[in-house]
Amino acid sequence: MANNPMPTQRIAFISVHGCPLARPGSKDTGGMSVYVHQLAQTLGQLGFLVDIYTRVHDSHDPMLVNLDENVRVIHVRAGPVRAPKNDLFRYLPRFIAQVKAYQEKHHLRYALVHTHYWLSGWVGQALAGEWGVPHVTTFHTLAEVKARARAGEKESAARSASERQVAASADRIIVSTAHERGALQRLYDADEEKVRVVHPGVDLGLFKPGDQQAARVQLGLNGHHTLLYVGRLDPIKGLEVLLHTLASMDTPRAVQLLVAGGSKRDEEYRRLKGVARKLDVQCKVEFLGSLDHTLLPLYYQAADVCVVPSYYESFGLVALEAMACGTPVVASRVPGLEAIVGDNRSGYLVAWHCPDAFADRLEVLLANDALRASMGREAHAMAQDMSWDRAARAVAEVYAELGILALS
Ligand code: UDP
Repeated sequence: MANNPMPTQRIAFISVHGCPLARPGSKDTGGMSVYVHQLAQTLGQLGFLVDIYTRVHDSHDPMLVNLDENVRVIHVRAGPVRAPKNDLFRYLPRFIAQVKAYQEKHHLRYALVHTHYWLSGWVGQALAGEWGVPHVTTFHTLAEVKARARAGEKESAARSASERQVAASADRIIVSTAHERGALQRLYDADEEKVRVVHPGVDLGLFKPGDQQAARVQLGLNGHHTLLYVGRLDPIKGLEVLLHTLASMDTPRAVQLLVAGGSKRDEEYRRLKGVARKLDVQCKVEFLGSLDHTLLPLYYQAADVCVVPSYYESFGLVALEAMACGTPVVASRVPGLEAIVGDNRSGYLVAWHCPDAFADRLEVLLANDALRASMGREAHAMAQDMSWDRAARAVAEVYAELGILALS
């Protein structure tokens, strides 16, 4: 690294499984890919140079993709392209070797490593040590919190141990909510001095209100009330509760549910379709598969209510996106969603994972056009404080604590 033409404000983002170019809503790709993409891009606008190292997730991926002037995605080969997330731990030494090979070949010098998710934290711990630079980590989800959120959640033994180790070794830990900070202290003995809370953001240029009728016409929707679910199809997301809710709802006007996320290839997709058939609500539910992120504003605008029935969310970008579009949200009362949804203001928080509790709140909202409109306005207003610019500036402050400043 003797001959280094690059400025030292270059940040290495490590996102082993969450490629910012992959389509969110599929099995192992969700909010973290959106987060990494948006945060890196906004840090780039603030004058940082960001290289995002991620695994090749498609054999056609070019090695290097410029996201914009200051931000690049570097695809690294480590393990089979289609390897599921749960198999990736064993390929991490290879991932580290590939990152180092690229960095050495191109004489790159990084000022800081910022990692996303525990697999990347494991990688970042090694790279930051090797390069002698600070390590900032964002776990996004924590095994010990997930395990307590829903019976039956299974995570590898390596995950908790690694999270504990990374929490101890990282210079700063960025969490999305105060609840996550508490969980890190309580369950991982993390030093509170180095934990910083930064709420993620929403792309306010993309997610904004629009004419509901026009959106419905564009999507070819009928006159039924429309509920919208957006997200990966994973049991922890609670879509099954929503299907039961639909079966138990009693409304004068017919109700339909649109489901954006998942793929016919996934077992969970087929299982949930089976549940809908069993409950005899298959005619009321449309499984759309995962949708391009840029198409989603139209769906949020067309919907009467966005429903987020998750058992666990470290944050819940979907609720925020819906709110930015002026759509009220009915969500489970779990910490990540409590940080976003204003109960009785921008929607409702439902305390029990029980279909009747969700049905009750949805019936109230669907029966009352004026209430939906006023909650929608409030939702939009609340989302305006949640831009990615604000989030990136808060992250930049964390970097500044470690002596790393943007170029401009
Ligand atoms: N998403 C998408 N297309 C889909 C389904 C989801 O673009 O078909 C995006 C959605 O807009 C959101 C992200 O995937 O930005 C899901 O993030 P969230 O934090 O709600 O859930 P996570 O995946 O992190 O559990």
